[in-house]
Amino acid sequence: MSICYPWFTEIHTQFMRHAQANTLHHAILLHAKPGMGKHAYVHQLADDLLCHHLKFGHACGQCQSCLLNQASSHPDRYVIASDKQISVNEIREALTKLQEHAQLRQRKILIIEHADTMTESAANALLKTLEEPSLNTFLLLTVSDIQRLLPTILSRCEKNTLIIPSLDMIRAWLNEHYQITAADDLMRAYQFAPLSIVNALTEDTEMNYNAFKQDLGAIKQGQLNSLEFAQKWHSQAHQSLGWLQLMLQQKTAQATDKKESLRFLAVSDFVSQQMQRIHHQGTNKRLVLSQVIDKVMS
Ligand SMILES: [Zn+2]
Repeated sequence: MSICYPWFTEIHTQFMRHAQANTLHHAILLHAKPGMGKHAYVHQLADDLLCHHLKFGHACGQCQSCLLNQASSHPDRYVIASDKQISVNEIREALTKLQEHAQLRQRKILIIEHADTMTESAANALLKTLEEPSLNTFLLLTVSDIQRLLPTILSRCEKNTLIIPSLDMIRAWLNEHYQITAADDLMRAYQFAPLSIVNALTEDTEMNYNAFKQDLGAIKQGQLNSLEFAQKWHSQAHQSLGWLQLMLQQKTAQATDKKESLRFLAVSDFVSQQMQRIHHQGTNKRLVLSQVIDKVMS
C-alpha cells in the first residue's frame, strides 16, 4: 500500500529510514495546517512502525500486528484525539497503559491528535515521558497551531513542519483521485491545503469560495446588495474578509498603473483593520461586512 497523500512521501521515507536504523526520535511532532491530512497520515505511520514484516517499506497488511491494526484493536497502540481539549486524565490513562510491557514485544505507539489542545496540566503530565522515554515507545503528535503548544513540550519533540505541496502535485492529485480541476484562485483561497480544496469543490455547500465569488458577481450586476450579501456571509466574516484580502492582493499585483495599485492597497488596509474589528466582542459583523463590501465594490 502506498502512502495516503503524496506530499507525505518524502517525510515518510525519512521516518522509516530512521526506524530501520533504530534512530527514530521517540517523540515526533507533525505540524501542518488544517486540510493537509496529517491525522490520516500519522495513523499510517503508526501502521508501518508496528508492522512485523514491512513489504516495500510499508505495512504488509498480513502480519499479526497489521491484522490487529485493521481491527482497531492493537494492544500497543493508543490514540488520543480531540479537537476541543485533551484533559490530564486522558494523558494519564494512556501513559499508564504505555508503561505496561509491549504486548506484542515490539514498538508501542501513542498518537496524540490535535496535541495543541492539551490543557496545561495534560501537557505537564506528558513531560516526564518526553524527558525519560521508555525503550521502544514512540509518541506521534499532530498540531495545526504550534504556538499553542507549551515550549517545554516543543523542545522535547522532533519538530517536523510540513510545507504545502507544489501546485503541480495538488493538481495531479485532484485529477487522479477526484477527476476535478481547481482554479488557481480557489486553491489560494484554501491556502493550498489539498483536503480543504476537495471539500470546497465536492461538498454541497452554498458557503464555499466559488459561491462567495458568485455573490460578489451578483452585487456587480445589481442583483444583490451589500446588506443582503452581509446577511448571508456574516457567520463566516473572518473567512470572507480573508478572501477579499486575497482578491485585493491579486488586483494590486495586476494593477496597470501606480494610482490603481495604491487605491487597491488603501482598500486592502481598510479590510485589514476591519478584520481586527470583528474579533472584538459586540462588533456587528453584518454591518462591518456590508461596509467592507461597499468600499471594495465602489
Ligand atoms: Zn504487517
